[in-house]
Amino acid sequence: MLSVKEALEKILSCPIVQKTEKVAVLDSLGFVMAEGVVSDDNIPAYNNSAMDGYAVKSMDIAGADRNYPIKLKLFREDLPAGSVPKTKLETGYCMQIMTGAPIPDGSDCVVMKEDALKEGRDVLIFKECKSGENIRLAGEDIKKGDVVLQKNKKIYPADIGVLASIGKSEVLVYKPPLIGILTTGNELIEVGEKLQTGKVRDSNSYSLAAQIKELCLQYKKYGIVKDEKEVLKKKIGEALGECDILLLTGGVSVGDYDYVKEILDDIGAEFVFWRVNQKPGKPLTFLTYKDKFIFGLPGNPVSVMVCFEIYVRPLVKRIMGDAQLFRKQISVRASEDFKHKEGRTEFARVKLDKIDDEIFFKSTGRQGSGILTSMAEADGIAEFPDDIGNICKGEEIKVYLLRDIY
Ligand code: AMP
Ligand code: MG
Repeated sequence: MLSVKEALEKILSCPIVQKTEKVAVLDSLGFVMAEGVVSDDNIPAYNNSAMDGYAVKSMDIAGADRNYPIKLKLFREDLPAGSVPKTKLETGYCMQIMTGAPIPDGSDCVVMKEDALKEGRDVLIFKECKSGENIRLAGEDIKKGDVVLQKNKKIYPADIGVLASIGKSEVLVYKPPLIGILTTGNELIEVGEKLQTGKVRDSNSYSLAAQIKELCLQYKKYGIVKDEKEVLKKKIGEALGECDILLLTGGVSVGDYDYVKEILDDIGAEFVFWRVNQKPGKPLTFLTYKDKFIFGLPGNPVSVMVCFEIYVRPLVKRIMGDAQLFRKQISVRASEDFKHKEGRTEFARVKLDKIDDEIFFKSTGRQGSGILTSMAEADGIAEFPDDIGNICKGEEIKVYLLRDIY
């Protein structure tokens, strides 16, 4: 049976066809740039005020302070944001200016409103101001011709703002995969249906869809398909016609009604591996079909989610052009003893606690692959490697972080 490392190597060494697409700038969140972006504009485009106050000549107010205010004449023109100054500022005058408004010619600084007092058509200035003070210079954020986003850069919310500021409404990104979700099992019922003996609500398609959404990606659900060979075959064919990655849950074990492997074989999918020496998720199956990928995920709700995290996510990230394939992993000490069988990898759901500035992990409780709440409570997934036995309190283990910890 393959080890976790070997299984991952097989998945990540499959050839991929990396496509690109133009998307609306807001839809690019979480994707990776397939082009470098150069700004055609200076940002800001003109020298403007960083404060509400008075545009002045610094020389006119040299030496001003609370005890020796300097009086300037208020020029009739006001400069709200969006206005264009019509007149040059003359010596002895000031102009009322708002944040973001262009600096009038003749002025070289802005006195904050709080450091001045308007008295009719005069303004008392209580503080001197250096040349350039409270002025945001044209191009101080971005210069025309600057590369604002490099090719292969992952896109975060601030990048979207930057792209918008330079007038980019669309960007070229690596096309993320469309991921299909198909759940199988005669016992499965929809979320809205009432439970009865023999029936299980389909939670897998929900947890998987949520894991995909967390990556800012699209999924397509193909519903619950009964363990009937012909129906299942038709649905799998339909999904493979549309999706880049197909996630099948259930039906990959060795039960009499587990038809998935047989069908995939029939349609000509290539088996890359079946079964990984791990707990949970041993029956994990991975296949390729043309330029598509198929994961046969074991039906148990925890196995499904863990296999997504460990195997599906890095493949998806690779297709997206993301250099960071895995969740952040940190070394953490065990705050209790753990039983672990040497010879296979175990993915334990753990909670993380900070004690005297050091982070420790403990079990979320029962670790059965059907105990979905063990996943819900987990801050991370601890990887107990196959070459060690029981884990003793204090031992350091690598943990994949599923969420922010404090
Ligand atoms: P299987 O891999 O089909 O043998 O299923 C293993 C276990 O996971 C069984 O107890 C199933 O009832 C359960 N299971 C399978 N599919 C789902 C699903 N979509 N949602 C929740 N539980 C499931
Ligand atoms: Mg089943």
